[in-house]
Amino acid sequence: MRILFLNLPYRYPVSRSSRWPEKTKSGTLYYPYWLAYACGWARKASHEVNLIDAIAAGLTGEETISRVLAWAPDLLVTEMCTPTSSADGAFLAALKEKGFRGITAVAGTHATVLFKEVLERFPGVDFCLIGEYDRTVTDLAADPASPERVAGLAWRQGSDVRSTEQGPPIRDLDDFPFVTSIYREFLDLDDYCYSLAQKPMVQVLSARGCPFRCNFCQYPQTMCGRTYRKRSVDNFIEELRYIRTSLPRVREIFIEDDTFTVDKARVEEICDRMIAEKIGIAWSCNARADLPLKTIKKMKEAGCRLLVVGYESGDQGVLDRIRKGITLEQSREFALNTKKAGLKVFGCFMIGLSGETRETIRRTFRFARETSADMVFFQQAVPFPGTAFYQECVEKNMLTTRDFDRWLKPDGTLDCIVDYPEMTASEICATRDRLMSRYYFSLPFLLRTLASNLSFSELRRIVKAGVAYVVFRLFKRNNG
Ligand code: SF4
Repeated sequence: MRILFLNLPYRYPVSRSSRWPEKTKSGTLYYPYWLAYACGWARKASHEVNLIDAIAAGLTGEETISRVLAWAPDLLVTEMCTPTSSADGAFLAALKEKGFRGITAVAGTHATVLFKEVLERFPGVDFCLIGEYDRTVTDLAADPASPERVAGLAWRQGSDVRSTEQGPPIRDLDDFPFVTSIYREFLDLDDYCYSLAQKPMVQVLSARGCPFRCNFCQYPQTMCGRTYRKRSVDNFIEELRYIRTSLPRVREIFIEDDTFTVDKARVEEICDRMIAEKIGIAWSCNARADLPLKTIKKMKEAGCRLLVVGYESGDQGVLDRIRKGITLEQSREFALNTKKAGLKVFGCFMIGLSGETRETIRRTFRFARETSADMVFFQQAVPFPGTAFYQECVEKNMLTTRDFDRWLKPDGTLDCIVDYPEMTASEICATRDRLMSRYYFSLPFLLRTLASNLSFSELRRIVKAGVAYVVFRLFKRNNG
C-alpha cells in the first residue's frame, strides 16, 4: 500500500507533537517525529511510504493538496492536536472535495481522546488512530475493510462511531528503523529548530512512556502511557553513530523522551558508551530534578549540554496536588549539583496548576530565582483533553471556553483558559508575562549569564532567543 504521512499545513508554525502546540516566541519547530517513527515502521512492513511536513516546507493548503493528489496515496496518515483541530478537519474535507480517493486516518493526542467528536464533526476523517499508532497504521493498511480487527481504531458506521480497544504498547523499540534515517530521506534538517539547541539539531527517542503521574502532562496520559519502554543501549548508541556518519552537519541531538532520566543506571550506561565511543556530538534531554551528582557529572562528561527540567512550582502543596513526585528539597539539591557539574538547565515553571493562588505564584518566582536556572520559562498551565487536570477543570467549571478554536490567540500563542477561585485567566496571563520580564531583565540574571556563557556560540544563541522574545512582546503590545 502507498502510505503518505503528512504533517498538515497550518497558518502558524505549530509543532503538533510538542507539549506546547503553539507558535513559539523563539521560532522552535519540532520534527514531526511521531509521524516519522510510524513512517519507518510502515516501511519496515514493506509499504511504499512518503513523509511530507507541510509546515516545515511552508506549503499552503492548496499546495499541500496538489502534492497529496500527485503522490496519490492509498492511505493518508496525519496528526491532529487540540488547537489546530478545526483547521485540520477542514483541510481533510477540502482534500476529499478536490478528489482525494484514499483513506484518511488521523492520529495524535486530540484524535486519541476525542475520536468520537472528531469523527462526528469532520467528514474528511475516515479513521482515528488511538494512542501510539505505528502498528495501528500497518494493521489498518493490511485490511482496511475489517476495521473491527484493528486494535486502537475508531470509525463511523452509519450514524454511530465504533472503536476498538488499544492493543498493548510496542515493547521492543529496537524494532524501529532509526528515525534520523527517515528525517534524512524526507526532511530538511535546516527547517527544524529547538531554540535551546544548536542548529542543525535532530530529535530522537531513546524510550517511550513515563511512569510518573503529573496530572497536567498530556503524552503519558494519552499517547505513550505509563509503561516505560526503552531501546537497548546498543541500539541507541548505534543511532548516534549513524547520525555522526550520515548526518555530519548535526550539532546537537535532543533526546525527546518524556523523561530521559527515568532509569539512572541506564543513563549512566549510555553516557559511558558515548564517552568510550567518542560520539562527540552535543546533546540535551528532558530530565527530572531527582538526579544525583554522580549521574549529572557523567552526563556532562558524555557531552550533555542542557537539561530541560519541569520544576513546575515553588510550592510543595501545589507539587503534591499535581502529583509531581518531587520535593522542593530535591529540586534545590539538583539545581546545586548541575551548577557544580557545569550542566546548563532550562527550568520550566507553570502558573495556574491545581490549587494555585497568588501566594503560591510568589513562592514559585522566589524559587525560580533561588535555583537560578540558566534559562527559565513561566508558562500558563493548559488543561489538555485527556489529562486529569482537564477533568478537574471541567468538574470545577473553571474553563473559560470549551471552544478549541479559541485556544490560540490571533498571534498563534496558547491563551489562558482557566479561571481560578482567586484569579482570572487574564490575570494568569498577565502574571506569566510579568514574571518572565522580571526574571530575564534583572541584574543578577544578566550578570550570571555573562559570567557563565563565555563561549561566543552560547552567547549568540541566548541573545538571539532574547531578541526574538523582545520583538514578540513588542509586536504583541502593538497588536493587542
Ligand atoms: S515526569 Fe515529566 S513526562 Fe513524566 S508525567 Fe511528569 S511531567 Fe510528564
